[in-house]
Amino acid sequence: MQGTMMNYPLTLTSILERAGHLFPKQEIITRLPDKSLHRYTYADFYRRARALAEALQKAGLKKGDRVATLSWNTYAHLEAYFGIPAAGGVLHTLNLRLHPNDVAYIVQHAEDRFLIVDDVLLPLLEKCRADIKPERVLVVPLTGQPIPPGMGLESYEDFLASATGDFDYPALSEDDPSGMCYTSGTTGKPKGVVYTHRSTVLHSLGSALPDVLNLSMKDVLLPVVPMFHVMAWGLPFTGVMMGSKMVMPGPHLDAASLLDLYESEKVTKTAGVPTIWMGVLQALQKEPTRWKLQPMEMVVGGSAAPETLIRAYDQFGLKVLHAWGMTETSPLGTTSRLKTNLQGGSADEQYAYRATQGIPTPLVEVRAVGESGPVPWDGVSMGELEVRGPWVASGYYRLEAENDKWSPDGWFRTGDVATINPEGYVKITDRTKDLIKSGGEWISSLDLENALMGHPAVKEAAVIAIPHPKWAERPLAAVVLKDGAQATAEELKKYLEPKFAKWWLPDAVVFISEIPRTSTGKFLKAQLRDQYKSWQWESA
Ligand code: ADP
Repeated sequence: MQGTMMNYPLTLTSILERAGHLFPKQEIITRLPDKSLHRYTYADFYRRARALAEALQKAGLKKGDRVATLSWNTYAHLEAYFGIPAAGGVLHTLNLRLHPNDVAYIVQHAEDRFLIVDDVLLPLLEKCRADIKPERVLVVPLTGQPIPPGMGLESYEDFLASATGDFDYPALSEDDPSGMCYTSGTTGKPKGVVYTHRSTVLHSLGSALPDVLNLSMKDVLLPVVPMFHVMAWGLPFTGVMMGSKMVMPGPHLDAASLLDLYESEKVTKTAGVPTIWMGVLQALQKEPTRWKLQPMEMVVGGSAAPETLIRAYDQFGLKVLHAWGMTETSPLGTTSRLKTNLQGGSADEQYAYRATQGIPTPLVEVRAVGESGPVPWDGVSMGELEVRGPWVASGYYRLEAENDKWSPDGWFRTGDVATINPEGYVKITDRTKDLIKSGGEWISSLDLENALMGHPAVKEAAVIAIPHPKWAERPLAAVVLKDGAQATAEELKKYLEPKFAKWWLPDAVVFISEIPRTSTGKFLKAQLRDQYKSWQWESA
């Protein structure tokens, strides 16, 4: 017997068409470089995204050709998110925080044919221009300033104006590539992941679910997470699929600019990395009555959210939702909402659950694998987190050397170390490369960091492994104190004592002015390890 259902392809053009037809009056607001607000509607967005698709086709774009973007979160970037795949092209977002040499490497590796760039980012483009040769460079005039002549640049607006509106989408299969993204290189050279129409549509559906990000047409969505990094966690696709009002912060990611937008646009859903939320929290704590905010859910991911952050926001009536993911997982893998049977637990128990990375989203499977196979879901046994699902990568773009990241039975090895508890909550304890192995046992640097960040004097803490003559490795904590606060190494060790086994406690605590970070705000532990590699334990 055969099924009797249509074999309807899952493509981004369905999402674009739905948005254009059902939500023409819905708004999309962008904060421009001069801080003024650009406003238009889904009707404008729909027309312009289609115009981009048509103009790209007329410019000779062939199916599978890469179109790079070097852009902030703006209306034009949103047009590129849909217009490029709708033309059969592959949206390739470039991380503008990378070193120009890395940007050039990525453009060459992906063989980008066209490039769309914000005018305010032209200085960055200039730095790698000698090494890259896109056929056409389209400049989005965010400032209204004229485009510099004689550099082979053309106006994005003129490019769109060349479209007539008489355009049909190319025939697309759901397995056609629609976008690509390189990992930020926290642990090595950037690696490219190619998303398909199908993986992106399924990821959008999965993300929108009530127990995942819970996104609907009633929401006002402000993605702080950049569209140049892991597709802003897919939120541009998910938001447009649902018909949410979209608010784009442009280049202004400071706390006051974000809070102003949250207030004026009545934002209900936002997403970003812990560093952003730490800054916003400080602003709120400093001026608790300045902003009148809607009840808002703040998705946090990209690195571990300390429990103290979740607790602190609750005091302002703002809900932090912890999520975990990677470039290779589109990125959403787990989200930490409380299951109904856990809602009767004590406040401390509930916070402990909310601080984990959460349970896998529907269609994503997880397991933690130790030396002799998958470890039990007991909340204690640690293993490398492995995942599989329809929006998980099955390989890297032109990089066979990394194929050992996939197990023979088809799971992706994330490089994160985790425990999974009997309720299915995943807790990331480390990255394999950041693990501290003392006397043959693993110590979780993330647990120690989160505990340290619960101390009132501590702004940030990174715990790293330092070679040790007896134990192979021992933990060293690098701590940044809050402005004007004081604490001694002894005090901090004492503070940790009741929370951990004795052998977990850092043998040394050093005070530094800031923790080195990657382009996407993650702690750059390799640099710290390098800095302290010849640490003399006697002096600890
Ligand atoms: P890169 O691998 O270059 O850092 P990604 O942005 O893809 O680029 O980062 C994915 C990694 O970020 C994960 O493997 C994990 O180590 C870390 N990460 C993401 N979300 C969380 C989280 N909620 N808690 C802890 N770590 C996280």
